[in-house]
Amino acid sequence: MATQTKDFYRILGVAENATPDEIKKAYRKLAKQYHPDANASDAAAAERFKEVSEAYSVLSDDAKRKQYDQMRKFGGLGGAGGFRPGGARPGGTQGTSQTFSFEDLDTGGLGDIFGSIFDFGGTRKRGGARGPSGPVRGENIEYAVEIPFRTAARGGKITVQVPVTDECSVCHGTGAKPGTSVNTCPECKGSGTITFGGGSFGVTRPCPNCMGKGKVPADPCARCNGQGQVREVKAVNVTVPAGVDSSSKVRLPGQGEKGSAGGPAGDLVIAFRVLPDRFFTRDGLDVSGDVHVNLAQAMLGSRVKVRTLDENPVVVKIPPGTQHGKRIRVKGYGIEKGGRRGDQYIRVMVDLPDELTDEQRRKFEEFADAAGLKH
Ligand SMILES: [Zn+2]
Ligand SMILES: [Zn+2]
Repeated sequence: MATQTKDFYRILGVAENATPDEIKKAYRKLAKQYHPDANASDAAAAERFKEVSEAYSVLSDDAKRKQYDQMRKFGGLGGAGGFRPGGARPGGTQGTSQTFSFEDLDTGGLGDIFGSIFDFGGTRKRGGARGPSGPVRGENIEYAVEIPFRTAARGGKITVQVPVTDECSVCHGTGAKPGTSVNTCPECKGSGTITFGGGSFGVTRPCPNCMGKGKVPADPCARCNGQGQVREVKAVNVTVPAGVDSSSKVRLPGQGEKGSAGGPAGDLVIAFRVLPDRFFTRDGLDVSGDVHVNLAQAMLGSRVKVRTLDENPVVVKIPPGTQHGKRIRVKGYGIEKGGRRGDQYIRVMVDLPDELTDEQRRKFEEFADAAGLKH
């Protein structure tokens, strides 16, 4: 695997602060110059065309460019594994599963770059044999969400704000300003694909100029910059099944990224992270919590109200002579999952009085004497 990071700005011959327009112009010029059609059997030109396309595919995409810039700034991130600034994180404010790993940039693999744009990685894994310009399923989004302990235990409904790529509502995905025309892409002549190299080693990839659509808008839509897509935050209602824990995920089919060229949308996968509770801890389907009693309650026995996972507390009998730290089972008050129900355990914590009045001290000394306790 190659380890040097390509300088996409140098490849396109533009400044680091180049505008999207400047980048597009530079790319158009170079793509024309090195296009395989104009350089049949010129391997160097084919290589250069690949480089140029690769650079453009990153720098022309706002999000990818930002990630790339960041990577440059931090000197390549070493071997810290995948570079995934967009990765899902707890808190649920942002993050998608859109992978844009450091290796994608690093290996010089055009396939990887396109894989991350067009989800070819996914189709390869699924063993699909579709043509590159055929319908492509949208990416799955994995999203981590923090949920309260009780919601996890009892189940419930939550709303998750998920950033997704959606069809632009102004141009309805065409990328063209309403009322303007969409032209056949000059780079791929409308096929949506470009073949690099020649003979049996030729590799066909989606055209980077039209992103595989085969068409380019004459006058780009202002809202989506001609992309036909916009990044939007979608509110998704998620039903939390009772008994989920921090390793649980739910899959919402078709709620992920939109597919392209008529392909189905990907799935939204919600990964739960259960927040700790002030009172309860959990062990499988059982829950535990401490209950504080005073000396008299422990020695003479008592009935105490104990909070449960339900709204209503339960009354638990503390037998006379209950020792500090004793665990008492409250049957059937644990987590219900798959037709089974756990128990609730309470740990009795005996609180001794901090200080005694003179009278209390006298009485307690009498008690101690009567019980034969040394003091
Ligand atoms: Zn638009
Ligand atoms: Zn094209």
